[in-house]
Amino acid sequence: MALVDFRSDANLRVPAGSNRGHAFVSETDNTAKINFPDNVQIYIPARRLHFTLRRPYENLAIVLPASNQVTTCSRAVTRTPAVRSPNSENQAEIVIIGAGPAGLSLAFELQRRGLPCLILEKGSSVGESWKKMPRDMKLLSPWKCNRLPGTPNKRFGRHYEISRAEFLEYLNEYAESAALPVRAETAVYSVEKGPHDNRFRIETSRGVFCSRVVVNAAGYFSNPFVPQIAGGSESAIPQRHVADYREPQDVSLIIGKSTGLVLIVGKRLSAGQIMVELAGAGFTVALAHRTPIRYGSGPFAWWFLFRMFPWLELLKLKLKGTQAPSNDVPMPGGLPRRLIARGQVQTFPQIERFERDEVLFADGRRLKPDLVLYATGFRPALEHLSSLELAICKQSGRLELQDLESTSVPGLYFLGLDHGRNFRSRFIRGIREDAAFLAERLHRSFGRPLPDQRPVAVA
Ligand SMILES: Cc1cc2nc3c(=O)[nH]c(=O)nc-3n(C[C@H](O)[C@H](O)[C@H](O)COP(=O)(O)OP(=O)(O)OC[C@H]3O[C@@H](n4cnc5c(N)ncnc54)[C@H](O)[C@@H]3O)c2cc1C
Repeated sequence: MALVDFRSDANLRVPAGSNRGHAFVSETDNTAKINFPDNVQIYIPARRLHFTLRRPYENLAIVLPASNQVTTCSRAVTRTPAVRSPNSENQAEIVIIGAGPAGLSLAFELQRRGLPCLILEKGSSVGESWKKMPRDMKLLSPWKCNRLPGTPNKRFGRHYEISRAEFLEYLNEYAESAALPVRAETAVYSVEKGPHDNRFRIETSRGVFCSRVVVNAAGYFSNPFVPQIAGGSESAIPQRHVADYREPQDVSLIIGKSTGLVLIVGKRLSAGQIMVELAGAGFTVALAHRTPIRYGSGPFAWWFLFRMFPWLELLKLKLKGTQAPSNDVPMPGGLPRRLIARGQVQTFPQIERFERDEVLFADGRRLKPDLVLYATGFRPALEHLSSLELAICKQSGRLELQDLESTSVPGLYFLGLDHGRNFRSRFIRGIREDAAFLAERLHRSFGRPLPDQRPVAVA
């Protein structure tokens, strides 16, 4: 058996169901061919496709749908996994997938209750998503909303606007000082439930792990959403998701010059922030959006809201209960609004289709951008759970959970998902509360704590 890490070009589009087991794989003497069925297409960013082949191959061919185009995957890496079956080191009662704020908060709360656990993280250290976010971004909420359990409030001022870099440093210190059990560079490929022992088998880049409970804390950032637009995969126009954007120099590198036309698709917060950053760096920016732009508050109202909104959220929760709808995160009302009003950023309706070096909009206008940047959001990172039959709520389209546990797969829990328990569950301020709730729940079902396993408080 060999695993294949397929390193695609960031622009390559492959169809839905292309993860292991769904594509048709044929293997000859020295070539493996992976055929995708002819159905809906989804975007899979670099390094996101994993197939299980019977052995390593010299050549790997990816056969794309519709066009029957064959892409020779010269950068495919075939390798034999290090461990194929669980050993005692790979056993844990509770395995957490992901060492972001959710995974770390839960591990801390579990250790506080004397419950050992293991965190599997695909990145080289904790806070992988925060490493990849735009370089100069600041968190959208004050420090008081973003500290993890056990951290004194006073580390920063209550209303301090913490930067991405500071937050990342804090996450690393947090994991280190509480000695949280993180196995980095361990990507989870699939999770299955044994039919006899009811334990989970977790296949990773570092072998197979076994556990009684799995908590998925894999977040959203690993699964950027890109809408399917006719002609997109054949067009010569480079296309990226904002998940691949860190600073304006990235754009220069992609388009090979320091100025040019960038078409941003989207109309919410990150579209507005990146629009301002790119315009400031000398790029010409255009915006395509399907529905009207809604602007948030300008700088003065924002100053007030930044301090007040945690209280307003609590009030909303009290009045509307756990089913209260999620907060919309609109485009900032200051500079982005002015750039659009002055015509410095031209706006267009949705893209109808891509042509070779042009995009055609729904109103018939055309544009020749040097780059299309999708600020179209993220979906929960769940593809490693695709072999489990997860119940989905028909009304909301979200996973069906009961107190954070899947209603169809007992022992599988989710932390950090929108409406896990309420509309705050996707954000750190909600994750902090949900982690304590889940740890308490697991503690009740696992029994008494071991006194010597309590973590130290984080400085
Ligand atoms: C630009 C931006 C700004 C944001 N600002 C804020 C803010 O100010 N306040 C706020 O509360 N929220 C903010 N968010 C949302 C924020 O991402 C979450 O609140 C927070 O990071 C969620 O933590 P998490 O642990 O659930 O997810 P993440 O931080 O995304 O962590 C998930 C971890 O799981 C790992 N992982 C994923 N798949 C696998 C796998 N198959 N195997 C192993 N490991 C895996 C990832 O590498 C990652 O380390 C922002 C999001 C974005 C995109």
